[in-house]
Amino acid sequence: MSENCSHDCSSCKENCSSRDKKSLIKEPNKFSDIKKVIAVVSGKGGVGKSMTCAMLASAAQNSGRVTAIMDADITGPSIPKMFGVKDRARGSENGILPVVTDSGIQIMSMNVLLENEAEPVVWRGSLISGTVSQFWTDVIWTGVDIMFIDMPPGTGDVPLTVFQSIPLDGIIIVTTPQDLVGMIVQKAVNMANMMNVPILGIVENMSYINCPDCGRKISVFGESGVDAFAKENGITAVAKLPIDRELTKSADSGKIDSLKNNYLSEFYEKIMKNLN
Ligand code: ADP
Repeated sequence: MSENCSHDCSSCKENCSSRDKKSLIKEPNKFSDIKKVIAVVSGKGGVGKSMTCAMLASAAQNSGRVTAIMDADITGPSIPKMFGVKDRARGSENGILPVVTDSGIQIMSMNVLLENEAEPVVWRGSLISGTVSQFWTDVIWTGVDIMFIDMPPGTGDVPLTVFQSIPLDGIIIVTTPQDLVGMIVQKAVNMANMMNVPILGIVENMSYINCPDCGRKISVFGESGVDAFAKENGITAVAKLPIDRELTKSADSGKIDSLKNNYLSEFYEKIMKNLN
């Protein structure tokens, strides 16, 4: 980067790394129409990133927006199972067609491409990144108002490819109370800042349980620090998700889009307001 960089590439002739970043953005399939793209990220696996992604997509679909999920978690895809999708993706001469849930959400995932869902994907990072890019360039996403991308956990190769090759309108960070204590979430925040992608909100999953006897909220892992963390990092939308057996049951039985109580409906409306 030039010493005198003004961060305005249009008025500068230098061929520096900042300019390169822009050119890595890929065009979607020419038959696709996607208005907004939000990536759901986490510092590590198993914190409820896919659960959050599925609940946000259900909230979007219920609010009348045409919704899609790109399951970029290639080695641990769980989105199709959560929605009870059994179909396999089909190809056409113009591209690959996503599968569609009963509620109308368009989904592309490694699991709808594999013949046997239990088959492991034992691939190197570059091949995985290439597949995620193809989910953007080769899949025909039809009339999508909002797409959620279930990102692979962490800040490695594949998340980096998504950040660089897909024009993200924002990200949602998913964390647990324990992660907030360490530096894991901070890494995800720093990555988003480095890539200049707005952080639309943060979800603290497994934040508390509701006592089945008295209904009181019990903070199993101690008092939540997510509000303070959000404030420090300038994040305005915060949600706290309880540990709720109904969520696991719905996800395991493929009925995540018919939740009686979608805890993230209000949060969803807030993040929509944060979208430009
Ligand atoms: P990740 O995508 O971060 O790896 P998942 O969303 O797949 O995590 O969640 C891991 C497991 O925990 C799944 O079995 C999911 O159903 C369960 N789970 C996630 N969040 C909750 C919650 N708030 N209450 C109960 N179970 C949850």
